Amino acid sequence: MPQELNFKQELTGCFGFPVAENPTQAMIEPAYRAMGLDWRYLTLEVKPENLADAVTGARAYGFQGFNCTIPHKIEVIQHLDGLGESAELMGAVNCVVNRDGQFIGENTDGKGFVSSLQEITDPTDKTCVIFGAGGAARAISVELALAGCSHVTIVNRSAHRGSELVQLLNGKVSSTCKGKFAAEFASWDSEYPIPNGTDIVINATSIGLYPDTDVRLALDSNTLSGDMVVADVIPNPPQTNLVKDARTRGCRVIDGLGMLVAQGAIGIEYWTQQSPDPAIMRAGLEEVFGT
Ligand code: NDP
Repeated sequence: MPQELNFKQELTGCFGFPVAENPTQAMIEPAYRAMGLDWRYLTLEVKPENLADAVTGARAYGFQGFNCTIPHKIEVIQHLDGLGESAELMGAVNCVVNRDGQFIGENTDGKGFVSSLQEITDPTDKTCVIFGAGGAARAISVELALAGCSHVTIVNRSAHRGSELVQLLNGKVSSTCKGKFAAEFASWDSEYPIPNGTDIVINATSIGLYPDTDVRLALDSNTLSGDMVVADVIPNPPQTNLVKDARTRGCRVIDGLGMLVAQGAIGIEYWTQQSPDPAIMRAGLEEVFGT
């Protein structure tokens, strides 16, 4: 019996500039294959001046969705048809989803973080210290608040950026939270001691990212204790000094690959309505990073 032939592949991808070193394709395409989906994930270099045309092109090609990375996470919003709740709160989109022909902007960075955290602990009523106030810190802190954390301290080099994030958290975000939530800013001019009673410590800065892998986060590692969860967003290399120090101190650790896989898995679920195997996604990345 001749089989029906179908050479049309469903398209997804990543728009960024520069984008050549973005490893997302290496975790998404193996997941599609394992799910039996003839889908593609294209790594697409889109210069800022071409973003509008790229989104129009994605509509014309019938893309099921696409990720946005630097420098498009904010600029893309004006080209979309709507935003999900957390993307609206954060004012940033890293994942666009084609819902019945409408391009809807979501943010999976923070959701991915929370989903990898939930494998270890329930965020409800937890107290968190987050280093950084950029895009990653913003996404993580907003989702932690929405997931029920009670307190977040933002520790950042630039006081202006840190205070701005705290204002967002104590304003729009706090009024959306179901439970009690508060955020505060802490300045960061020496080794930061983690306060007693902290449950979760997160590096959401770019400190430790390749090629500056020797640098250490200015954190007093003697104040890390075994009952804390320590997370690092740095995916390359996943074994940062913070990850190593935290393991030595007996903390439970989430590395940057954990968050990358979890946010990618949520993107695949948005696009395909099916759940991928995170182990296959992580193996794809580990092959790239030689871990
Ligand atoms: P941004 O440029 O928006 O923010 C960078 C942050 O790092 C700022 O808070 C900045 O502080 C701080 N920072 C940078 N260098 C230093 C330094 N030398 N000393 C002190 N603070 C410093 O970047 P993003 O938030 O978008 O990304 C941050 C990291 O998160 C990147 O390495 C990225 O790879 C990673 N990431 C990982 C993801 C994952 O899935 N694993 C997802 C998204 C991001 P200041 O405000 O003072 O400049």
